[in-house]
Amino acid sequence: MSTETFENKYRNAWCGLARPEQVGKELRVAGWVHRRRDHGGLIFIDLRDREGLLQLVFHPTTAPKAHEAAHRLRSEDVITVTGKLVEREAGTVNPDLPTGAVELEVESFELLADAETPPFQIDEDDKVGEELRLRYRYLDLRREQMTEAIRLRHHVTAAIRRYLDERGFLDIETPILTRSTPEGARDHLVPSRNQPGSFFALPQSPQLFKQLLMISGFERYYQVARCFRDEDTRADRQPEFTQLDIELSFVEEDDVIALVDGLIPELLKLGGIDVATPIERLPYDEALLRYGSDRPDRRIPIEIADLGEVFAASEFKVFSGALSSGGTIRGFSASGEFPRRRFDELTEQAQALGAKGLVWGIVEEDGSWRSPVAKFLSEAEIAGLVATTGAKPGDAILAVADDPAVAARVLGELRLAVGVPEDRHDLVWVVDFPMFGWNEDEQRWDALHHPFTAPSGDLDDDPGSWRSRAYDLVWNGTEIGGGSIRINTSAVQSRVFEALGLDADEAQERFGFLLDALTYGAPPHGGIAFGIDRIVALLAGRDSIRDVIAFPKTASGADPLTGAPSPVDQRQLDELGLRLKPGIATS
Ligand code: ASP
Repeated sequence: MSTETFENKYRNAWCGLARPEQVGKELRVAGWVHRRRDHGGLIFIDLRDREGLLQLVFHPTTAPKAHEAAHRLRSEDVITVTGKLVEREAGTVNPDLPTGAVELEVESFELLADAETPPFQIDEDDKVGEELRLRYRYLDLRREQMTEAIRLRHHVTAAIRRYLDERGFLDIETPILTRSTPEGARDHLVPSRNQPGSFFALPQSPQLFKQLLMISGFERYYQVARCFRDEDTRADRQPEFTQLDIELSFVEEDDVIALVDGLIPELLKLGGIDVATPIERLPYDEALLRYGSDRPDRRIPIEIADLGEVFAASEFKVFSGALSSGGTIRGFSASGEFPRRRFDELTEQAQALGAKGLVWGIVEEDGSWRSPVAKFLSEAEIAGLVATTGAKPGDAILAVADDPAVAARVLGELRLAVGVPEDRHDLVWVVDFPMFGWNEDEQRWDALHHPFTAPSGDLDDDPGSWRSRAYDLVWNGTEIGGGSIRINTSAVQSRVFEALGLDADEAQERFGFLLDALTYGAPPHGGIAFGIDRIVALLAGRDSIRDVIAFPKTASGADPLTGAPSPVDQRQLDELGLRLKPGIATS
């Protein structure tokens, strides 16, 4: 990033970049009064610009006019200052500040704008409520940690653009006012004035447009794209968020993965993180068996083991019953403190997640197992349990006998609850996904990725057995990106719609344009999308993506700065042909 100053009447240097090499020079700097201190006749001001702080000194004798006028300067006033850069006296050097060896002896200054007292301190890292921070976001963004996060975000998108431009990708914009693009969330709708009763949907992703661009022959596309999903408020979701969206033609899974394996290390380097490539790949089934999750946090040194063989002939009813009804027995060992109360809490957690129960106990020095169910198990079974889970004396073993999906989910969560992640970074591709997941509530199949993902292999009559050509990238247990090779024939696309329960008419009505486009020579193509907000938050070490978005919404989806969303006048509603339900007020 350039630090060119564009010399003009306000500045010929940045505050934050003043260094001992410039000592003796006349500098002109501009910025905000960060902090002011009066000391034995001298006035000190830390002046802040985008690049950092510079200490200004106002002398009563050498610059009496400036010194006199400086008395009225308050925090956050905006000034331009001229003076001579000098070395600080020994003993007053501040090693914590990049400009800490120098200071500017002010000759004159001009007040450019007054500032009211801000509602919170800009110069202190104090705890300020989020509502207030967002209401005065322009002040919040003046704080160093916020400035840094937004800069890091710039560096991330700049690196992405450089990397993709060098590889022949075109940055192409796609519509914001469009038709529903199903990524599985609720749409944000925009009523049409010209066609009352009709609505645009804001795109949940540019998925279909990027596929159409491949059919158009652009071959390599990317976009730093805004996506809109009206999801129920979950801790760290935003109704609009940013994706790096990529699509390529004439490719297979390995090509997309190789492209990303080259890009990701460049991005992680911006957070000082080194990753080894190629990034390891883990089949979905294995991820579920070993970690109980398709976004495994492998930094937790606990692996789930299948205990089916150990208990194949068990007389313990819980185990034999599970096995005979097509269920599994799985478990893991963990070290740590496990008083009785902890087991009770874990049992409650397991039950809340749908397990019938939790089998637990502690391995004794002599290899026996202190557990309420030990008396139902043979010595050989206990020895097998300890060996298969790799438990050491003092470790706890937790096991679940249940339907495979329930066992995976429950043990996956318990693994996160009892495990402590190692201090390292872990990246892994999850591959070989099933095409569909069963939606119990609606008694139908749902696409595990989206309906445009290509299935792999032969398509038999049981959609539950289809696999997909999808891949997800997982970083420390968070899915940061996902994509797939796409369907490129209208016949297969129709087959998938059918499996999802869309009848031919409905498919034609909603996705006719895609089905048509697929008949005009669609190249094999595939792509991926990454959540940029999440990646920057992880790089910046922030818990919330709100901290890396310049103007985010609150957790409940509102913007306290502008007051959006807000009621509208009756006239606007009339123009749109809309009427609110009784009891809902217009503005
Ligand atoms: N459109 C997908 C998503 O937003 C990503 C992809 O398949 O490229 O998750």
